[in-house]
Amino acid sequence: MKILKFGGTSVGSAERMKSVAELIQSDEPEIVVLSAMSGTTNQLVQIAEKLYQNQNQEANALIDALHDKYKQVVEELYTTSEKKKQASELIAHHFDYIRAFTQDLFTIHEERAVLAQGELLSTALFQFFLEEHNIPSVLLPALNFMKIDENEEPDNDYIAKNLKAELEKYPDNKLFITQGYICRNAFGEIDNLKRGGSDYSASLIGAAADASEIQIWTDIDGMHNNDPRVVKNTYPIAELSFDEAAELAYFGAKILHPSSVQPAKQKNIPVRLLNTMQPDARGTIISNKTESGSIKAVAAKDGITAIKIKSGRMLLAYGFLRSVFEIFERYKTPIDMITTSEVAVSLTIDNPKHLQDILAEIMEFGQVEVDENQTIVCVVGDFIAERSGAGLKVFESLKNIPLRMISYGGSTNNISVLINTSDKVAALTSLNEGIFERNQNHA
Ligand code: ADP
Ligand code: ASP
Ligand code: MG
Repeated sequence: MKILKFGGTSVGSAERMKSVAELIQSDEPEIVVLSAMSGTTNQLVQIAEKLYQNQNQEANALIDALHDKYKQVVEELYTTSEKKKQASELIAHHFDYIRAFTQDLFTIHEERAVLAQGELLSTALFQFFLEEHNIPSVLLPALNFMKIDENEEPDNDYIAKNLKAELEKYPDNKLFITQGYICRNAFGEIDNLKRGGSDYSASLIGAAADASEIQIWTDIDGMHNNDPRVVKNTYPIAELSFDEAAELAYFGAKILHPSSVQPAKQKNIPVRLLNTMQPDARGTIISNKTESGSIKAVAAKDGITAIKIKSGRMLLAYGFLRSVFEIFERYKTPIDMITTSEVAVSLTIDNPKHLQDILAEIMEFGQVEVDENQTIVCVVGDFIAERSGAGLKVFESLKNIPLRMISYGGSTNNISVLINTSDKVAALTSLNEGIFERNQNHA
């Protein structure tokens, strides 16, 4: 079994959907995971905002505009009047469902139901297209098997059991289509795996189905060595280890959802990143192998808050860090980076939801300083083999950038620094020049 996930741009128009139908032709069993058509989830977010604010007229205008876009897709995607009719009725049904929320109380539960419509639409439209072309396939409702628990973590046993049950209903079928991103939560309600979550769906489904490979098809030819949205002259990396890819995804390489490497790593399933616009490009293979001794890539994660706690109680004491960490644990707020001196500890978080409560408790330990608008820049590679030179190259490249925190040695494949977000472009550009552009041996 192979898993093939196609992102928003890859299914972003009737034309693109037709190319996907070609790319999935195979003799092997496949589960194809689709995102919403590009732009749709953003538009659904906007609609939800209007509904929250009770601005029903504005919400209706946005809903109508999105509905019109889908009417156009239906016109372009199908040739037979039968399928056009079937698809028009289907989209009308979804948009009526969204419109109905203008009459009702709108809370986070309704918002999640609205956000799920994008993937429900793209997969249903794609399934109709396959039917029109007599390509045998089955549409599997992700809401029947994708589930998160009360901690918003995937319920792997449930997913494996229920996915298997769904697949067993169709023993003779080889091609399955399903929705990325959407799931049910511990209360059985519609929920999602957070923005960009279709990659995570693909990886969870791959792990649940013991797939031989997970392919993430997107609009770029693999994981690049630096953020192509920020820096010119980036290039694809042929091979990454699971750990390297996980660090890059977690620290901001948008091509992969932050958690999407873990399920594949656990089951040792190779993940291939491929480009729908250039299907023959080699892309990136993520596996348990790595090319040793090189700096592979740089990524940056914005929206970071740094907290410094200076405390006399830390001096020569044990148990201090535990007491600090317990506060973060209580507020379910993960810590990303941490540095310590004998009298102070600095740490970073990316979710400021409970910041005020956390600060109120931490202030009991001593003086607290908070810096917002910070960015973690993460340099990923094999730093064991290059131990004597890699750090130097990184810091030499960053010599003109004020560094708020440095983290080295936490793992053998990551050096991270914390900077002001306003210095991000300069930092990524300097690292590109200092590390990669002088290196002639890259892919
Ligand atoms: P999809 O809709 O297919 O999930 P995304 O927009 O989520 O696609 O991810 C692909 C985008 O990720 C690329 O177009 C690129 O701009 C961005 N990106 C950021 N960092 C990297 C990187 N290091 N390598 C490749 N792409 C990256
Ligand atoms: N459609 C969702 C989003 O835009 C999930 C995804 O594309 O991965 O965030
Ligand atoms: Mg994505």
